[in-house]
Amino acid sequence: MNRFIDLISDTITLPSQEMLQTVLTAQLGDAGRMADDGRGEDMTTRRLEDLAAEMTGKEAALFFPTGTIANTAGILSQAKPASRILTEERQHIMVVEKLCYMEDGFRMKPAIYQLTEEGGFDIPAIEALLKEGDIRLALVENTHNFSGGKCISVEQMKAFYDICHKYHVPVHMDGARLFNAAEGLSCTPADICRYTDSTMFCISKGLGAPMGSLLCSTRAVIDEARRLRSLLGGTLRQSGVAAACGIYALQHNVKRLKEDRQNAQLMYSMLGGKLRCLEMTAYPQSDILIFDFSKSGLDQEEFDARCKEKGLRGYHVSPVEYRFVFHLGITEEDTILAAQRMLQLDEELFQRMRA
Ligand SMILES: *Cc1c(COP(=O)(O)O)cnc(C)c1O
Repeated sequence: MNRFIDLISDTITLPSQEMLQTVLTAQLGDAGRMADDGRGEDMTTRRLEDLAAEMTGKEAALFFPTGTIANTAGILSQAKPASRILTEERQHIMVVEKLCYMEDGFRMKPAIYQLTEEGGFDIPAIEALLKEGDIRLALVENTHNFSGGKCISVEQMKAFYDICHKYHVPVHMDGARLFNAAEGLSCTPADICRYTDSTMFCISKGLGAPMGSLLCSTRAVIDEARRLRSLLGGTLRQSGVAAACGIYALQHNVKRLKEDRQNAQLMYSMLGGKLRCLEMTAYPQSDILIFDFSKSGLDQEEFDARCKEKGLRGYHVSPVEYRFVFHLGITEEDTILAAQRMLQLDEELFQRMRA
């Protein structure tokens, strides 16, 4: 009954025994030393990269220690510092990573667009920005983290890609949760990636590997990204230790992402119509559910403390929004318990609000 249920992020997933077992027999080498074909010498990393390229339908892929370095290398391999780039306003690259935009970073200028309520694009507004000219790259995030894990449909991806390409602007996708998007949309990752020029995805989140991300694109972009990866200090040497876990994750943990979406939806349906103070911002399309607690009158720290008293932990995605992420290790039972605790908390906050 007192079990602490940690929904702060899918980054807290831990590698299983079976996953770690694959590391013991992984063939390792120096991924920073180039073989004759221009790729690194760590054979396990190469296997992961080949698998990632195949699953995203791209020519080539490159392993990175983090999604942040992979996004940065992906962007810089297609747009020079100080370029203008089309960016969505609540995108991770813009709100959290920032380096591409910082004055003492790569000084890129964002041309900002907004997602629609349904998680689609306002194509005329985007075309107006593209018409202004000098945009070098367009960014999209799918699933979209801070809007509650919205899945952008393949049709919408195509519409975005087509309008960008009409103006000769390539599209980079931050697909940290690409596999959650594919699961939520009942399509393959390649169906989504078809309408991107480059895609980053994380193996360190819901897929349950302890570290790593992949950048997938054309051979030319990947070759440039390999050079940049080294300059950014993102080239791990015997990265097969991490890549082995990534291969296991892609082979075994993709199928279970469905459970995370179902748990998010279960909590939504258990609370739907019953909350008197808190509000859920949208029906979950993937592993994320967001609560708006503005009516409670509590600030971030107070709300966080109230959740912790209940044995729950989430994460603030804005001053009034609290995010729960369902992940490997969170069962249906945990979800039911967590929903019951949120109902209690809501009742307490409602009483407090009236007092
Ligand atoms: C986690 C995340 C990243 C970055 O990944 P790190 O490995 O933490 O650097 C990028 N974009 C989104 C949407 C994310 O959720």
